[in-house]
Amino acid sequence: MLVLKKIRKQFDGKVVLNGIDVEIANGEIVSMLGPSGSGKTTLLNIILGLTSMDSGTIIFNDKDISKLSMKERGFNIVFQDYALFPNLNAYKNIIYGVKNRPDLISKEELDGLIDFLELEPHLSKQISQLSGGQKQRVALARTLATKPKILLLDEPLSALDGVIKETIKDRIKAITREYHLTTIIVTHDPEEALTMSDKVLIIDQGKVSQFGTPNQVIHQPQNNFVEEFILRQL
Ligand code: ATP
Repeated sequence: MLVLKKIRKQFDGKVVLNGIDVEIANGEIVSMLGPSGSGKTTLLNIILGLTSMDSGTIIFNDKDISKLSMKERGFNIVFQDYALFPNLNAYKNIIYGVKNRPDLISKEELDGLIDFLELEPHLSKQISQLSGGQKQRVALARTLATKPKILLLDEPLSALDGVIKETIKDRIKAITREYHLTTIIVTHDPEEALTMSDKVLIIDQGKVSQFGTPNQVIHQPQNNFVEEFILRQL
């Protein structure tokens, strides 16, 4: 269980997160949904350990990890722009974080991951030769190879469209189940959040507007913002 308690963050005197309280069960897919500038990416980076919080506590599996570094937390992220290394081929990108680390991931597990993401035909390709969906799968493989305790995804579908978007959506769901991961996804698209998650965390102006299942959000919106935000865009 990941517990966020009273998370606050300001940038240059502007309050971005204003007391976030939420509990995420292990193995859940949670989408953070909110308008541009509502603080979603900031919260994701705080969970990752990349950005410090001004106050608040983060508990993971009963341990206070608030003061732990990114490495010590053992979570990992796929950034919105994938942040792949353009001078390395797909395979070298995938193994980048786990080179000479058979203690972390075995050859069989790595092969299994590559197989699961159907990346064999693309391993020797340069990043510039890959389609958007293939780049996304390479980025996912590189992150999953580090065996993260929590998988964080920043706008994983925003650069994709049509059929590829649906495929990656299904793939993310399958990965979460297959690898028993907790997955937290940032999105600004209600349709995306409501179709791919167990729970949706709606953030408005740095506060939790509603946290519930897609069904609860759709049928029991807790306030005007949720009603307007969901109904307006669905
Ligand atoms: P989007 O959907 O547009 O990515 P978001 O909900 O993810 O938005 P954040 O990226 O978390 O929002 O940003 C929230 C606010 O914090 C914005 O006003 C942004 O300008 C500000 N902000 C984020 N990071 C920094 C930073 N490093 N320094 C100063 N201000 C920042």
